[in-house]
Amino acid sequence: MASTEIQNIFAELGLTPPADVGEGGLVIKDPSNGQTLARLATHDEDAALAMVDKAQAAFKKLRNMPGPKRGELVRQMGEMLRTHKEGLSKLVCAEVGKGIEEARGEVQEMIDICDFATGLSRTLGGRTLMSERDGHRMMELWQPLGVVLCISAFNFPVAVWSWNAAIAFVCGDSVVWKPSPKAALCGIAVHELLKPVLDKAGHGDAMQLVLERDVKVAEALVDDARIPLVSATGSCAMGRKVYPRVASRLARCLLELGGNNAIIVDKTANLDLAAHAIAFGAAGTAGQRCTSTRRVFVEAAVADALMGKLEPAYRQLSERIGDPRDSANLIGPLIDEAAVAAFSSAVERAAAAGGDVRVGGKALERDGNFVQPTLVRVPDGQPFPLMAEETFAPILYVQAFPDGGLDEAIASQNSVEQGLSSAIFTDSLRAVERFYSPDGSDCGIANVNLGTSGAEIGGAFGGEKETGGGREAGSDAWKSYMRRQTCTINGSDALPLAQGIKWE
Ligand code: NAD
Repeated sequence: MASTEIQNIFAELGLTPPADVGEGGLVIKDPSNGQTLARLATHDEDAALAMVDKAQAAFKKLRNMPGPKRGELVRQMGEMLRTHKEGLSKLVCAEVGKGIEEARGEVQEMIDICDFATGLSRTLGGRTLMSERDGHRMMELWQPLGVVLCISAFNFPVAVWSWNAAIAFVCGDSVVWKPSPKAALCGIAVHELLKPVLDKAGHGDAMQLVLERDVKVAEALVDDARIPLVSATGSCAMGRKVYPRVASRLARCLLELGGNNAIIVDKTANLDLAAHAIAFGAAGTAGQRCTSTRRVFVEAAVADALMGKLEPAYRQLSERIGDPRDSANLIGPLIDEAAVAAFSSAVERAAAAGGDVRVGGKALERDGNFVQPTLVRVPDGQPFPLMAEETFAPILYVQAFPDGGLDEAIASQNSVEQGLSSAIFTDSLRAVERFYSPDGSDCGIANVNLGTSGAEIGGAFGGEKETGGGREAGSDAWKSYMRRQTCTINGSDALPLAQGIKWE
């Protein structure tokens, strides 16, 4: 049997808890106490590929349903999520250790993308274009694409699927979801909760869920030529493996990979605002967001003043570490023991390299994967190589830049391999314009006077360089999930050729 808590959550969601398959199953452990939550059955390669068969057949039906009717199905999914927001939030909290308040935010994001996609279903459209030929008309048609494979990371165990699936469904695609094996219960619950909406309309097979404990199963999906789009969210290391495989069969990849996000604080900034945003961005979700703030570059004139605000804030946060189910706790656990080991190793290397660990730095000696939010003041005026790494934990590096050296700070911000999120705190219009100039931030997200994390649905989300270049969840991101057709109609009785070519 799954743990009593998991049984209760599934009952609250109106679902049957997943069967416990005993020894040999995929073990899901509670990151806040190490106890086993469930031991789950997984799919092998044949079962996974059979799901692609079903998804492909379902696509052929779904693509012929009018877009606004597909939008209505996504609207119903949003309603289902509204009804079950609390139950699903509890599951996110229990399985990946996300604080309950942030888990509610994640489920709200699912609701928001359903709303967004519902509206989109009535506005998807192409352009008409001027033809150079007499009596001709050109237009763009957007057609459904096919089966979309969605690979998701543990840290957004439900929202990332919805960013992809809500848009894919209104575009007329079917979706095969391969969640992180660390967040399989969330995958099961979302699937069981929302599939009935499609079932009722006769399109149930457009939604497939593959649970795996062997990367070969994921790779078989990535290699499947019937899948025209692989949307993969996770580490840069994963992207480096997935991208070449998809490229080798000349299909499309939408990559949402790692981040190493920085905040610049200049001497005109409101330091209270900056300190609050930095603490939330760096320590929120225990530093396990792709958009977590990992680096701060502060103008020398206000460096001590900013540290004077961050240090007490971090000390207060250290007293709010604990069970993520209790909303009084602001810092939950890391996902697993390997993440704790990576945290400890990074802190050790930072200290050995001359970093001054001002607050935190320790893993807690108690059950669960808890670590202290950690503030490291690094030496000024020289590169600190560790700052170039994304350690998926609450470690923040702070370095000062010379007074008047905004360009230097921007260059430092841009000096890492990833290009996801960035921010500047300033009251200077000139600094804002510099930040937004072509010489400014090279990231997919660039904010002024707010932090690096906490994007909202509606804007395209994603980043440049090794973050992978993908965009999801807003603006014209839907174009990735459709195929564009350029169509020319000849309404005349002649056959003029383009570029004035004569061929008679
Ligand atoms: P991960 O790379 O370990 O795993 C992500 C997913 O990829 C999982 O489902 C995993 O099973 C799958 N996977 C791993 N190797 C694969 C392979 N060879 N073929 C196919 N699938 C494979 O990442 P994680 O630890 O779950 O998540 C943390 C990482 O994800 C961080 O680097 C974070 O920055 C990044 N992330 C990025 C975004 C974004 O939108 N840019 C969002 C969330 C997380």
